[in-house]
Amino acid sequence: MSARPGTVYLVGAGPGDPGLMTVRGREVLGAADVVLHDRLIPDGVLDGLPGDLIDVGKIGGGDQVPQEETHRLLLEHARAGRCVVRLKGGDPFVFGRGGEEAQLCAREGIPFEVVPGVTAGVAASAYAGIPVTQRNVASAVAFVTGHTHPASPAGAGEDPAKPETTIDWPALAMFPGTLVFYMGVRRLDRISEQLVAGGRPAQEPAAIIQRGTFADQRVVTAPLAELATRAQEAGIRAPAITVVGPVAALHDELAWFAAGPLAGRSVAVTRARAQASGLTARLRALGATVTEAPAIAIEPLPVDLPDPRDYDLLVLTSPNGVHRLFDLVRDARTLAGPRIAVIGPGTARALRQHGVEADIVPFRAVGEGLVEALAEVPVERALIARAQEARDVVPDALRDRGAHVDDVALYRTVAEPLDAAARDAALGADYATFTSASSVRFFLEAVGGHEALREGPRLASIGPITSAALRDHGLEPHVEATEHTPDGLVAAVVADAALT
Ligand code: SAH
Repeated sequence: MSARPGTVYLVGAGPGDPGLMTVRGREVLGAADVVLHDRLIPDGVLDGLPGDLIDVGKIGGGDQVPQEETHRLLLEHARAGRCVVRLKGGDPFVFGRGGEEAQLCAREGIPFEVVPGVTAGVAASAYAGIPVTQRNVASAVAFVTGHTHPASPAGAGEDPAKPETTIDWPALAMFPGTLVFYMGVRRLDRISEQLVAGGRPAQEPAAIIQRGTFADQRVVTAPLAELATRAQEAGIRAPAITVVGPVAALHDELAWFAAGPLAGRSVAVTRARAQASGLTARLRALGATVTEAPAIAIEPLPVDLPDPRDYDLLVLTSPNGVHRLFDLVRDARTLAGPRIAVIGPGTARALRQHGVEADIVPFRAVGEGLVEALAEVPVERALIARAQEARDVVPDALRDRGAHVDDVALYRTVAEPLDAAARDAALGADYATFTSASSVRFFLEAVGGHEALREGPRLASIGPITSAALRDHGLEPHVEATEHTPDGLVAAVVADAALT
């Protein structure tokens, strides 16, 4: 079952953990011509999609694109024959106004499909170790909107034009089961007052879960009557759900989800987009909020590649170089002749993806490390396939030993324009990561010079060459990786975050 043109897909993106999005949701996203999405969408879900992205979510905690405008866009794109995904946080039919959008399609004769998502009330509770039902403890669960403030953001829950809630509090207080409130953070005091006034015990267990299922999830538990105060003391903010009922006490026993060591930290990744995803994913998995701010892109160069069989050593110095090489040779058997040396484990991994094992991987992933590792290796003819602007340490050392060295540039790095949002997010981040001297150079150009970085993020460098590039611009790195790989860089940032 694929995705059809001229159709609207109302898709739930799940609560935050990208792993909680459905297979069907991913499938239609990958096929969409246009995606109209909310703000609260799991990290990375929108990266690399082929279709146009239109943000119809809340803008900076303030205004939301009016619902009528979202409706207009849905109709316009569907009528133009596009495959339209309307992507919403959690489940589209749970406080997501998905019902209204489906009604619009039905009324206008536009085919639609609903792809349910894991709703926050269930998922955030689960990640807090709170089963919303439990045998002999809670045999029913109610999802309730706590959104009672007329000026609160629209886009979910009750009609914001109504000045007061239509919730029947006394009836809700009598509900024989767990109560799960969405959107209630600012009205928490009112919610608990009304429930206690309606007969709910003041000592009933309650919990509030902020950014449930994200790596920076926070949970506060307290008796119902004290929850608002405790949550305020802890600085709990939206998005959060509130769980009221004896099941909330199970958190103490069942909490299983630990926040990552980078929870609450923001990190800018300045590598080229084509290379960023691995580093980004690792940082996110540890709880960081990641902004990709690539000021650099990879541009393949036309090459006349000599036959690798004419050499006894082939040197590869980056994953990009490896992938580009395989675009050129296609058949791994072409590389069967020479020994193959790589600069570090990342390049070795890239090679392994093509079914080839490196013979030489230096202990230190820099040119000098590779020269050391090659010291005992006999070399007569070496082919170095790499970036145009690479350093000359390796070819110089080999030539000094009397070897014949051919150096081919497979690709070069070029400036990539950085949009204002990415620039601001990067400059406002807690850390900016740099994985090459060229990423330093291009990033500084894109942000208008080193002054912009002086008071900004802590600067994290992958190794001595990148650090030197920062120093050339008058910037002292705060963090330098001991192992000069993306993993090493992540480890160094984690270590620094533990101390600062
Ligand atoms: N359709 C969504 C709900 C949209 S209403 C769903 O099914 O989950 C927005 C509210 O959902 C927020 O105010 C908050 O109460 C809740 N919410 C969404 N994501 C959340 C998360 N990761 N953790 C806690 N609450 C969340």
